[in-house]
Amino acid sequence: MIISLTEKSKKYAKVVFDVSRIFLPKLTWHQLMGEGLSHYSLDIEISGENLRVSLIADNRTQDSYSAAIKINETNEIKRTIKLAVYHILKNLLQVSGSPWGILTGIRPTKIVHRLWDQGYQGLEIERILRENYLVDVTKIKNLLEITTLQRQFLLSPEDSSKTASIYISIPFCPTRCYYCSFPAFSIGRWEKEVDNYLQALKMEIFKVGEALKEKGIDVETIYVGGGTPTSLDSQQLTVLLDAINSSLRTNKTREFTVEAGRPDTITEDKLWALKYGAVDRISINPQTMWAPTLINIGRAHTTEDVINKVEMARKIGFKVINMDLILGLPGENIEHFAYTLEEIKNLRPENVTFHALSIKRGAQLQDKDLTQDEIVTKMNDLKEIWCKNEGYIPYYLYRQKQITANLENIGYSLPGLPSIYNIQMMEERQTIWGLGVGACTKVVNPLDWTLESIYNPKDILLYNQRIAEIIQAKVDKISGLS
Ligand code: SF4
Repeated sequence: MIISLTEKSKKYAKVVFDVSRIFLPKLTWHQLMGEGLSHYSLDIEISGENLRVSLIADNRTQDSYSAAIKINETNEIKRTIKLAVYHILKNLLQVSGSPWGILTGIRPTKIVHRLWDQGYQGLEIERILRENYLVDVTKIKNLLEITTLQRQFLLSPEDSSKTASIYISIPFCPTRCYYCSFPAFSIGRWEKEVDNYLQALKMEIFKVGEALKEKGIDVETIYVGGGTPTSLDSQQLTVLLDAINSSLRTNKTREFTVEAGRPDTITEDKLWALKYGAVDRISINPQTMWAPTLINIGRAHTTEDVINKVEMARKIGFKVINMDLILGLPGENIEHFAYTLEEIKNLRPENVTFHALSIKRGAQLQDKDLTQDEIVTKMNDLKEIWCKNEGYIPYYLYRQKQITANLENIGYSLPGLPSIYNIQMMEERQTIWGLGVGACTKVVNPLDWTLESIYNPKDILLYNQRIAEIIQAKVDKISGLS
């Protein structure tokens, strides 16, 4: 089904587009703007302090929603339009709504933190989320639990200006997983460029570290992600970690994570390199423990590999291991997911991150491969019970576009062991300096928590070529911070 906007309503197109896609995920921007045949149109009329959204078909109003507004409160007007469109489309399509109501952003926790900041208490926040945003009670419970835990890690404006976290990108992977849309570079094909890349990256690490020290900014957490950083060999890892430790680490650094995501890249040598490099948190990501699915999604490892590599990491002394799992992988049913949970229970990782599958452009899997929403919702219910029984506490949450069953991604941890980097990165109250290919820097203004983003090139050759200019821009930015 296609809907479009009447001419005078197009100034609210972004708001309408976001909320319409909850019900019409295939609706395109061009269709909404009237380029194509649409049977229905939406008309938004603001008259004095009254807002009315009407659904029109065959020149007749089929449904409408009216509400009082305050004309100079732009955000409230947008929220009211979202509510109106949500109700109208839900009625039209005769479907149940989203458990997230009209919240369509990636970081719903940020809204809750703003309410805590304004002095609202739990019950009031619950009411606002339920009535103003139509969020389900189970999601509200998660939001309150997560934000309450996070408050101890959120920084005051003063501390925020004195600290930062670091993201370092290693964009190589052994092969491409079929669900992945990340522009990962095959380590085999890019072998000749790896050393040049590491050389450029080390320069960026060194110069940014120097500028941060000059400015008196302490690095709180470091996260090396990708890609799969353990695609590098143990010598390359050692050189990289030496650069990080000598340039970025300070006596205030509290957490150092390296993603060892694909078990097929992990060797004892590499784990020792991480251990000697003072890494204190690693990720070993099975995604599923159901062997046939691993083949279906192009993961070149077995379930035994996962178990062996976790045991190897434990023997070497890693105390915090994260494991990523995906709900809704192709062909999986509730029994397969229950099997995965049972296997993970035996490994007892300190952190488990559950992702609901989200297929984006560039992935080999397609929409037709997706598991039905009802099954994924049941997996999610099972996951909630499992986490509770096993003593895992949710500590960060985010949503993605085109996410299965309108769900969310949630990180859980055993008590006292949440990843501080994940919290800072998601809640955006601390600047994250992104170094390396495709890395994004988000400079936080502690006065009002607004952000400025700086993007590194996504292409390795371009990054290597432009490294001097990339470094200079970052150093200038750091020197100019107040
Ligand atoms: S390991 Fe991660 S980044 Fe690499 S291809 Fe698989 S999903 Fe993508």
